Amino acid sequence: MQENVINKIYIDGEFVTPHGTELADLFNPATGKVIGQVQLADEVDTDAAVAAAKRALPAWSATSKEERLDALRRLQAAVAARTSEIQEAVLLEYGGPVRNAWMVGSAVGAFADMITTLEGFDFTRQIGNATVELEPVGVAGVITPWNSDPFFISNNVATALAAGCTVVIKPSEMSAMQTYALTRALHEAGLPRGVFNIVTGLGNVVGSAITRHPDISKITFTGSTPVGKVILRDAAETLKRVTLELGGKSPSIILDDADLDQAVTGALMAGFANSSQACVAGTRILVPESRLDEIIAVATAKMADFPVGDPSDPATAIGPMVSERQWERVQGYIRRGVEEGARIVAGGPGRPEGLADGYFVRPTLFADVTNDMTIAREEIFGPVLSILTYRDEDHAVEIANDTDYGLHAYVFSSDPTRAHRIASRLQAGRVAINGGFESLSPFGGFKQSGIGREYGTFGLEEFLEARSVMV
Ligand code: NAD
Repeated sequence: MQENVINKIYIDGEFVTPHGTELADLFNPATGKVIGQVQLADEVDTDAAVAAAKRALPAWSATSKEERLDALRRLQAAVAARTSEIQEAVLLEYGGPVRNAWMVGSAVGAFADMITTLEGFDFTRQIGNATVELEPVGVAGVITPWNSDPFFISNNVATALAAGCTVVIKPSEMSAMQTYALTRALHEAGLPRGVFNIVTGLGNVVGSAITRHPDISKITFTGSTPVGKVILRDAAETLKRVTLELGGKSPSIILDDADLDQAVTGALMAGFANSSQACVAGTRILVPESRLDEIIAVATAKMADFPVGDPSDPATAIGPMVSERQWERVQGYIRRGVEEGARIVAGGPGRPEGLADGYFVRPTLFADVTNDMTIAREEIFGPVLSILTYRDEDHAVEIANDTDYGLHAYVFSSDPTRAHRIASRLQAGRVAINGGFESLSPFGGFKQSGIGREYGTFGLEEFLEARSVMV
């Protein structure tokens, strides 16, 4: 491989040069400079990857649970052994702050979680007279975004292989270095040829070919809602099973009994996680009218705990946006917020002081936001948070649910019973009370945040087909 040119994809257990010849530049978002190129795969490469996965399917789908567990353990160890190399790529190509070591840790964790899930999973169930057999759905196609590349690939490889499926993955072309570092690790696990194949190319070329391919039975897509709709339409022709993990506009509800210091820290963490390039970002902070001034004062003071800057500095909480396009998009939303009457209480348009290069945004907090404003309705995917007020619990729930999305929600209260009562009224696939988290619980969206669930047993079942045998 030429230096800084990623010209290898992974098909049938080998690194091969793509048939596709188009090159795309790769950038360091912290400097805006080109750091390399990726040679993009095409439809011919996609066909080769699908054919390899199809050849590998009969043997892999016949493996025992023990054999699959052994494979997952080897994959976990292989990724764990290369975390520093993967982390370097995340830093260089994505600008992911080193402080967020969880980004690579979660890739290792994805295998650990699927091992736990598979150990306790029963592929046969008895329902009355019927024996229900859960079969692998077939060759799976997986399409992933750029905002947590090593985790999305690892989680989908783990789940598909645990189910007995073989898989073709199309990561974002903007994450080629991260994908290459991860693939080298996965390769070292020494799995049978063709069980997983990784083909980096454009969405409308490789992604589209996977979605339409007659030999693929299931698609898992993680990405934006507009592209999710295209995938659903394209997959309809071959009636693929489709799991969609899409965008969000998640509410963080601070109840009037909350410890403000903890709640505001929690809400800002939920909003700024992964430099706010997170589908689960809590971007609408709902606060009681009676405590608005207090909360604004605490929140503006706490902005200092979320410094933006060089992602290699361990103090940095918020890195750059992934691309110039994303930077422009976020700037557009900040302007729009001002035009529509919201009040900037921290941050604002332009670049942060001293960061003239790269795609850095000033972490911005808006107050006087109403839920009909563009900044409260659309997914920004950058560090721009909105504070909205509510009158009472019912009003808080009404605002929280008044969105096309329903991926995540956060509730902060000193009374867990009260918080749970509110959580049960929220249209969201996950609700975190006071920062609660469980990686094995189902993850996915209500409404336009998606279809289906990932992680744990719910995620595994998405890769299985049920056959009832009745005597
Ligand atoms: P995107 O939708 O632009 O792209 C996602 C992937 O789809 C990429 O690999 C892309 O190449 C591919 N793609 C694009 N057009 C395609 C087509 N016509 N057919 C097939 N594939 C196609 O999203 P992005 O900008 O890479 O990522 C950001 C988005 O992802 C945000 O909206 C975010 O909320 C969402 N996201 C969701 C989750 C979740 O789990 N719910 C997680 C992370 C990101």
